[in-house]
Amino acid sequence: DFALELAGLEKGYNRGKPSEVIVLHGATLEVKRGEVVALVAPSGAGKSTLLHIAGLLDTPDEGSVALGGRNMVGLGDRARTEARRNDVGFIYQFHHLLPEFTALENVVIPQLANGVAKAEAEARARELLAHVGVLPRADHRPAALSGGEQQRVAFCRALANKPKLLLADEPTGNLDPTTSDQVFAALMSLVRETGLSALIATHNLELAARMDRVVRLDKGRVVTS
Ligand code: ADP
Ligand code: ADP
Repeated sequence: DFALELAGLEKGYNRGKPSEVIVLHGATLEVKRGEVVALVAPSGAGKSTLLHIAGLLDTPDEGSVALGGRNMVGLGDRARTEARRNDVGFIYQFHHLLPEFTALENVVIPQLANGVAKAEAEARARELLAHVGVLPRADHRPAALSGGEQQRVAFCRALANKPKLLLADEPTGNLDPTTSDQVFAALMSLVRETGLSALIATHNLELAARMDRVVRLDKGRVVTS
């Protein structure tokens, strides 16, 4: 029972030109339901490319992508967008919260866009914010929150629509080490509480060691550390 199955991925840029780069070459990775996997790779190794393919933002040149047992290769744009909205939550190094809306609204809005009723969306947003300890800051705009608080709100937003898979690219990368530790603990607690599967890219080996399994990207392949 897998949340994510990537098999034999090939991905290159500028194919056939002198500037050709082969990024993924036979990359295979499975994330089981409820499993949290750390993806460790040096800059330029293809982490973002892999996460974008897993999150249906990009397509591989070859290979297969399945989310929740459903094959995603060959789906039309609309079906992919639909699957991405329903099944995948994204977290980035920089939170990209909407600056003109409050913390609560930032977690409510994606749910409204997904057809959830306002009262239900607010209740879920409050529950998520409470879980990561930022409910007292719910009515503040992002600029009034600390970096760690902003990132916690971004976690809640990513989980707002109950995705099956969470994809995170350096989720605590812009925070100081102490804050990073606390914010990572909040994220893990949220992920465990919801039984979510996650693929989390990080340079931080200490954080990686706290996940279920660590994999690396090496010469376009996914290898177990
Ligand atoms: P990472 O996230 O590990 O830093 P990326 O997936 O962003 O790695 O990039 C992997 C390699 O592919 C890098 O060499 C990068 O320069 C190259 N690359 C990424 N996107 C493009 C693109 N759109 N066109 C050309 N080269 C790209
Ligand atoms: P919506 O139109 O509802 O905002 P999208 O289908 O455009 O949703 O995007 C779904 C998710 O994918 C969002 O979390 C968004 O941040 C992310 N996303 C969309 N496009 C990109 C992109 N080019 N690069 C990185 N993330 C993206």
